[in-house]
Amino acid sequence: MKQKSEQYCLGVESTADDFGVGIATFKGDILANASSGYIPEEGGIHPREAARHHAEAADQVLEEALQKADIKPKDLAIIAFAQGPGLGPCLRTGATVARALASYLQIPLVGVNHSIAHIEIGKLATAAKDPVTLYVSGGNTMVTAYDCGRYRVFGETLDIALGNCLDVFAREAGLKHQKGLPLGAALEQLAAKGEKLVPLPYVVKGMDLSLSGLLTAATTALRKGSNRLEDICYSLQENAFSMVTEVTERALAHTEKKEGLLTGGVAANRRLQSMLAEIAEEHDARFSVVPKQFATDNGAMIAWTGVLAYTHGVVTPVEESFVKLRWRVDKVDVSWLK
Ligand code: AMP
Ligand code: MG
Repeated sequence: MKQKSEQYCLGVESTADDFGVGIATFKGDILANASSGYIPEEGGIHPREAARHHAEAADQVLEEALQKADIKPKDLAIIAFAQGPGLGPCLRTGATVARALASYLQIPLVGVNHSIAHIEIGKLATAAKDPVTLYVSGGNTMVTAYDCGRYRVFGETLDIALGNCLDVFAREAGLKHQKGLPLGAALEQLAAKGEKLVPLPYVVKGMDLSLSGLLTAATTALRKGSNRLEDICYSLQENAFSMVTEVTERALAHTEKKEGLLTGGVAANRRLQSMLAEIAEEHDARFSVVPKQFATDNGAMIAWTGVLAYTHGVVTPVEESFVKLRWRVDKVDVSWLK
């Protein structure tokens, strides 16, 4: 509910296939979280096509968010935007929207790390304070936890991201986006009907993992046609999810933190949630999952992380607001946690 003395941050998300605008109060209420997703006609995300979608969707998504929050642009105190990591053309489109808004309204601009925003929105929504976080999405797969001023990466994928692995296999299997159902969710439904484990690679190297061999083997099994699709989906999920769970468990054991958090688009998966809940229990850790509306890429997480950063001294001058395609979480000083 809007209050007179309240300050608002508008956050712009555009790192990949989603263009999102969220509005957060400085106290941490999310007033709006509007978005428009780009769905490729065929194949994976085409960066320039996605960027074109974002440019075309921007005014409508902005208006929807402002209406939902019931505020006017002049009520905004700051503009936050996802400065990276992500796809260049997509990031640049969001950054242009954010710069234009901040310049026109003459208010501060705050560049936000997209991966950190996934962690912070998870913490805000679940009241987790200091978790070991598994962040799994279309473009990222990592286990992180806070230590000495930064989110440290305890383990990560050496090649493709978990969501990407599921999506590419789903497309190979002929699954389609239906009624807004993500490909990973369509695969989850088939996997739930699987009964037999098809032997597939399981690759954990130290604390890192590799998913590309698993994807190739699952695709080869699919083409051979000697296993039910449901069984391959089931086996793909079991192997991939066990790998990320193993690394998360070792990070929990090492840090002895008492909270586990699952965030990012793939966090919506029930099977993954149950595997992580199990290992968290074994380590006496409280386990939380980011709520579904904040799981996939969204503007609310950027708005909220913008508030955290700005209220702890971070402002991004326009001349320093260039996008950072490979901006790692462990390169960001998290001033609000110090
Ligand atoms: P993001 O990159 O954070 O926007 O998340 C999108 C990714 O999450 C895509 O790879 C989706 O296929 C995946 N995803 C969404 N829902 C599910 C689900 N229920 N199970 C597995 N993956 C999912
Ligand atoms: Mg996305």
